[in-house]
Amino acid sequence: MAGIRPLIAGNWKMNGDEQSLAEVRVVSEAARLESSVDVAICPPATLLSRAAAVAASTPLAVGGQDCHAAVNGAHTGDIAAEMIADAGGSLVIVGHSERRADHGEGDSLVRAKAEAAWRAGILAILCVGETEAERRAGKAQEVVGSQLDGSVPDGSTALNLVVAYEPVWAIGTGLVPTGGDIAEMHAHVRAKLLSRFPGEAHQIRILYGGSVKPDNASEIFAVDGVNGALVGGASLKATDFLTIVAAARSR
Ligand code: PEP
Repeated sequence: MAGIRPLIAGNWKMNGDEQSLAEVRVVSEAARLESSVDVAICPPATLLSRAAAVAASTPLAVGGQDCHAAVNGAHTGDIAAEMIADAGGSLVIVGHSERRADHGEGDSLVRAKAEAAWRAGILAILCVGETEAERRAGKAQEVVGSQLDGSVPDGSTALNLVVAYEPVWAIGTGLVPTGGDIAEMHAHVRAKLLSRFPGEAHQIRILYGGSVKPDNASEIFAVDGVNGALVGGASLKATDFLTIVAAARSR
């Protein structure tokens, strides 16, 4: 991961309650000692402001798992990027495959959400990734390329955008692509970004996501072009998550 400061971001999905703030506290204390890796946790919206209060004055960043594209309005159940910022969040995940699948979110909406994040002054972690059927059909690069074309906004920089490559079939399954397949896709993502943002795209972080665990993190971070991870299940326990953070540091 030489040259680019890694980011390890935890996605708690629909998990966590008041007691889980103890995990945030442990990670935030460890983040104080972490000088070479950026660390973030995206708890459910119900915990966002409390998690942000726990992480305040530590380097741990807290963020949302999704946002609406609008600033406000009649959108029952949604939250705006501005609300995430108001709650103390500094980033938001957009285009996660679970949002794409469960809520039918397409590339143009994901793009609008990334732009909403920027409008609110927060970082967008934009997810792309192919399904198992698409990979089997030899279409993984084509699918990810088209998701990038459709969802990455003009004006992307290393300060406002992180891309997370998350093969859908690897999320929550314990399956992980080979190092060669991850390297190939990360090179493809980098090339696509460079074609639109020459120069700048060299610094945009490209995370890998999909069943990253304490026991495979070092191997994944050794893969060319991997600048960190978006971690689901293994981010719920501070000890597991911090083992993954440590693996990124020792790269
Ligand atoms: C995710 O939800 O983004 C994810 C990568 O989940 P998991 O680590 O549990 O596969």
